[in-house]
Amino acid sequence: MSSSFSELGLSEPVLRALESCGYTEPTPIQTQAIPLILQGRDIIGAAQTGTGKTAAFALPTLQRLGTHTGVPRCLALVPTRELAMQVEENFKRYGSGADLRITLLYGGVSYKPQVHDLECGTDVIVATPGRLLDLWGQRHVHLDKIEVLILDEVDRMLDMGFIEDVSRIIRLCPSERQTLLFSATVEKSILNIAKWALRNPEIIDARSGSVSAETVAHYIYPVESYQKYDLLLALLEKTDFKSVIVFTRTKRDADRITEWVQSTTHAVATMHADRTQSERAEALAGFKSGKYQVLVATDIAARGLDVRGISHVINYNVPDHAEDYVHRIGRTGRASEKGEAFTLFSPDEIMDLQAIERLLGHTIERRRLEGFKYRFEPMMGTTASAAKSGGGLRRRNR
Ligand code: AMP
Repeated sequence: MSSSFSELGLSEPVLRALESCGYTEPTPIQTQAIPLILQGRDIIGAAQTGTGKTAAFALPTLQRLGTHTGVPRCLALVPTRELAMQVEENFKRYGSGADLRITLLYGGVSYKPQVHDLECGTDVIVATPGRLLDLWGQRHVHLDKIEVLILDEVDRMLDMGFIEDVSRIIRLCPSERQTLLFSATVEKSILNIAKWALRNPEIIDARSGSVSAETVAHYIYPVESYQKYDLLLALLEKTDFKSVIVFTRTKRDADRITEWVQSTTHAVATMHADRTQSERAEALAGFKSGKYQVLVATDIAARGLDVRGISHVINYNVPDHAEDYVHRIGRTGRASEKGEAFTLFSPDEIMDLQAIERLLGHTIERRRLEGFKYRFEPMMGTTASAAKSGGGLRRRNR
């Protein structure tokens, strides 16, 4: 396996940008994907956030695009606005030595600046599906010169009901193109898209052997549902955290928990789909800067966020999609930092927990919080049915 970026075939300007980012060694997905993408191959990358997948697709793509032409030649399609902002930021960072323009298109904000950017001429578009189709319908965006199509977090785009929009956008791009598909899981629905949208793709599995990030220690805290609130506050009190994301299943829970945490000494912000774009941006910026130590978020709002140095993730509910568990705990322990993830589990969530343990291929350690007054003895036994093997994809390479 190559141990430096220069051995992967990256050019001088890209290497210089990497140096200024402080990256010294490629991550496994970068080692595997970069040479293939430089050769023009289509790939399916099975990788969750935190693996360095954005650089894996952005670096070789920037190199292949070369210099500014003002006609969109690369489209990166992503599920959420926050992820769109992050991907754009990464393209800009990695492309700092190149003469290419990157344009960001997402909903919930005015069309005007986006239309203006497009009129000025751009090379790379980073977009969410709805806004892109709106602008295409208004003839502000042309996709007929796209050479590289990047489909990021496709599993999430499908979960969010974007299948028709995504399929339509793929069809609007020229059939002669390079397509790079990234997804945390590679189940049948993803492979069905890959069948018609990709040409002879190479599959790269960059998930760690245990699916979840190896730098995250994660535990289940069994508790009756009516004591979850007390246990959450007790955990916040007893844990020495730098910053923590609390994930909830519903927007209502997110709002309620925010109110509870506000009554403690912790500074807290909220993020969910009913918050305006500016509220979400303020919450995220405040969390990144350290103004807020606690961010309470629903999964949809927070998936894919790259916030460095999150020390803890707390799942207030067991996620009802097993893959979400992996995504959520992936918010911590990023780029080899150590992290911890706690999941509050009440007996009615047993089926969801079993599904997660089947996906991981092992049971997750149960813990009880010392000193906490449990009304009923917590269910400390593990579930019997954690399957022996992990997800549905055969692993080619680790
Ligand atoms: P991603 O999986 O693309 O969301 O990236 C996760 C984080 O890892 C981001 O903060 C990147 O800036 C960082 N990162 C990506 N590649 C490397 C690398 N080779 N060395 C160190 N950090 C990296």
